[in-house]
Parts: sequence; structure tokens; C-alpha cells
Amino acid sequence: MWQISKNFALSEFIDSDTAERLGIDNTPSEQAVENITLLCTKLLQPLRSLYGKPMHINSGYRCEELNKAVGGVETSDHRQGLAADIRCDNPKALLQCLLASKLVFDQAILYPTFLHLSYRPTRNRERVIRK
Ligand SMILES: [Zn+2]
Repeated sequence: MWQISKNFALSEFIDSDTAERLGIDNTPSEQAVENITLLCTKLLQPLRSLYGKPMHINSGYRCEELNKAVGGVETSDHRQGLAADIRCDNPKALLQCLLASKLVFDQAILYPTFLHLSYRPTRNRERVIRK
């Protein structure tokens, strides 16, 4: 699978243990691939370069079936390839790094073990939620 940016490959956004286990085909549409690329080049890679430490994609793109299987909300940005759940050494520090940067994002949702980040083609809201 091809490399989107220095530290991220498309496969990282598509591969899912749940999809594999349940035999779900999580192949994204061309539009979803475009969205993943945008999310990666506008937000994730610049953030990765600032943070300077590994960021692992727990969950990126989710087809309808996979989204249902993981209990995602129907309107989830993951459905469009516009969001990623990121695991790293310290999700709280990653959020701090994002907020200290000038990077544009739509939503940052801090969970105990990962940070959900989304980026939209237009009208990014820069909304921060701490769970
Ligand atoms: Zn998420």
C-alpha cells in the first residue's frame, strides 16, 4: 500500500483487526482516499513532525459495516475517512502539542488511551472535547 506522507501509509488507515475477524471488506472509495490524504497531509503529518514521536492509527477509515461493528455513530467522520484515532506515548501531550501549534482541525476528542482527530475540507471548528 502506498505511502501518503513521510510517516503514514494508506494501509494504516484501512487495516482493522475487527474487519479482518468479521470478514468485512473495508476498501475505501476514491473520495474516502482523498479525504484520508487530506487529513494526513494537512493535520496528521505536520503534527507528527512537531510531536517527534511515533503516532499509531488505532482506527481510520470505516466502511458502513465496520462502523456498525465497532459501535460508531452513523454520522462518524471515520465513515468518510476524515478522522483517525491515534495512539501514542501520551495522548494528552499530543493534544497539548496540537493546541500549541497553528494547525487547523475540526474535532479533537481526548480519550484515556487515544486522541480522536478530524479534519474537514471546509469549516473546521477546532472543537476540543475531553472524555
Ligand atoms: Zn474516532
